[in-house]
Amino acid sequence: MPIPLIAGNWKMNTTVREAGILAAAVKDAVAGVSGVDVVLCPPFISMAEVAKAVEGSPIQVGAQNMHYEDKGAFTGEVSPAMLQGLCRYVIVGHSERRRDFAESDELVNRKARKALESGLKPIICVGEVLEERQQGREESVVSTSVAGCLEGIDSPENLVVAYEPVWAIGTGLSATSDQAQAMAALIRRLLTDRFGQGGAASVPVLYGGSVNSDNVAELAAQPDIDGALVGGASLNVDQFADIVRITTRVRTSS
Ligand code: PEP
Repeated sequence: MPIPLIAGNWKMNTTVREAGILAAAVKDAVAGVSGVDVVLCPPFISMAEVAKAVEGSPIQVGAQNMHYEDKGAFTGEVSPAMLQGLCRYVIVGHSERRRDFAESDELVNRKARKALESGLKPIICVGEVLEERQQGREESVVSTSVAGCLEGIDSPENLVVAYEPVWAIGTGLSATSDQAQAMAALIRRLLTDRFGQGGAASVPVLYGGSVNSDNVAELAAQPDIDGALVGGASLNVDQFADIVRITTRVRTSS
């Protein structure tokens, strides 16, 4: 089983100053908690501030996105070369980017491959929209997406996959632990087909979608869920610290 991972996606929230304060508070709140990897993904312009604030702690910094080229005429974009040394993780294919910037599996795959080449750990997000679930198509949608996002990736090393049903993101309506486990198990099978059992077992499969301190215990207790990608609740220090603590408690007792 991989070490559980809790990643906080701050989305487009916090000024640079607020980000430093929030990161320092998270550092204090989770000090001494072990057996879980914690990653904070602030807006790009706050990454250096957050890195400074968490220095000396095991907390890692992540980016919320990146371009697949190292440099060039891509106004407003941030490249993997710019992220190197600043963070270890990068979220790719978040559903908000798929929805608002028409990011396809093909584009996400380019980003994921480039992240790996650049020594970054991509957190690849996949998940179905409500209509697809209502039509019973969630498994085929996620299978297609995983295949597309992993195209040409032949090692499981440094990979993270997050199952994030779009209907659960920011809605307060989390998937049930059974629904989340079923999809995480599907992703594990797809990873096994590609990388073999040992390889697949080494990839953290996260659940994301309205995770909070009330529902995380049940989610983290599922055999194929190795942690969470947390949006809204990651902006609240007490909630986020509870999520981290509960995850490590559940995983060390199972
Ligand atoms: C997310 O942004 O990836 C997310 C899961 O958000 P929330 O926890 O707010 O649903």
